[in-house]
Amino acid sequence: MRVVVLGGGFGGLIAAYEVRKGLPSRHEVFLVSNAGFFVFRPSLPWVVLGSRRPHQITADLAPALHRRGISFVQATVERIDPERRRVMTTRGDIEYDYLVAALGAHLDREAVPGLDPHTDCIMWLDDALRVREKLERFAGGDIAVLEVQGTPIPCAAYEIALGLDAYLRRRGLREKTRIHFLTHAKAPFDVGGERASYLIARELSKRGINWRVNAPLARVEKGWVRTEDGQAFRADLILAFPPYRGTDAVLRSGSLADERGFIPCGATMESTRYPDVFAVGDAVAFAGPKSGRMAELQARVAARNVVSRITQRGRYRTYQPHLMCALDMGAGKGLFAYRRETAGQGPAFFSTAVTGRWPVMMKAAVEKYFLAVHF
Ligand SMILES: Cc1cc2nc3c(=O)[nH]c(=O)nc-3n(C[C@H](O)[C@H](O)[C@H](O)COP(=O)(O)OP(=O)(O)OC[C@H]3O[C@@H](n4cnc5c(N)ncnc54)[C@H](O)[C@@H]3O)c2cc1C
Repeated sequence: MRVVVLGGGFGGLIAAYEVRKGLPSRHEVFLVSNAGFFVFRPSLPWVVLGSRRPHQITADLAPALHRRGISFVQATVERIDPERRRVMTTRGDIEYDYLVAALGAHLDREAVPGLDPHTDCIMWLDDALRVREKLERFAGGDIAVLEVQGTPIPCAAYEIALGLDAYLRRRGLREKTRIHFLTHAKAPFDVGGERASYLIARELSKRGINWRVNAPLARVEKGWVRTEDGQAFRADLILAFPPYRGTDAVLRSGSLADERGFIPCGATMESTRYPDVFAVGDAVAFAGPKSGRMAELQARVAARNVVSRITQRGRYRTYQPHLMCALDMGAGKGLFAYRRETAGQGPAFFSTAVTGRWPVMMKAAVEKYFLAVHF
């Protein structure tokens, strides 16, 4: 049998490792990725704010995969043909018996008029480096951080806004800069639960950040952000966290994808339309926030279930969603938020949050541990 994993992020990497561990060596495991390296994306805000260099948060895929007996194909996936069990790539077609799609997502830059030309979005390493350069040249003025309606990564938006405050203080520019934080949400960071929201609101106020809730964006223009209720904010630098859409490769894959390019799955991570296709991470059509932690948990479930199907042994697993977020608020202070969902991604039935130094230490430890263990 051949298992093909698409994508070399959290989801793809963990799925490939776990499938390989679970299957006898006569079965083949392939990983296809357009990038030759893994990026620990939770550390991108640290790249923006100057406390990480690219080499500290990236690792080469090829040697790590080869050591584990996984064949690596560096190629771009053009589309998946689930009827013929085939993946079309820039380096030829690859047939599969089971597929794990972990291709992530693209930013939906059309979500709000003007987002694309007038804002910087931090999605990948090159974005983070571009924003870092802009910040290095920044000499004071107005900066707007936008948690755009529908974004699945609210944590990163708060991390950047609060981190900017600390960064600008270090550079002696805080007095010369106004930071605006705009969110569509009813309360800041409400996705983390009531206590997390209270703690973040307190911190935003303490740092003198001009934060506005219930402020969905209407449009962005050069140097201006306009909200649906008619407010306008001037900004020299606009950092936006927009919603996602599915990747072009999945969008081109016919009925595998929904209309936005995400793959509908059940809690077993199996496609609702093609039982030999599993999907994990940002590529899945689950509502709500998306994170590396969720991608990793989903990958373990998908891998276990692929192995069970092939070996006809072991129980089928299901994914239990929860949100766990260690957020660096800058100036040595962090927030840890945990929220457990009800089954089927319903409303949270438990949430808690604490602040202090240790969430930052925890975030750094997770980064080091993940890269050391998997590469
Ligand atoms: C600024 C920022 C901060 C974040 N902070 C956190 C955090 O603190 N904690 C947390 O848990 N999560 C965080 N996240 C979210 C987390 O990074 C993502 O949810 C996670 O990376 C998703 O993993 P994935 O494997 O599903 O997809 P991705 O990480 O997007 O990986 C997709 C992979 O597929 C490859 N690929 C894409 N298209 C193709 C194609 N056509 N052909 C071949 N290969 C392709 C890519 O190169 C990549 O290897 C953050 C995200 C951002 C942007």
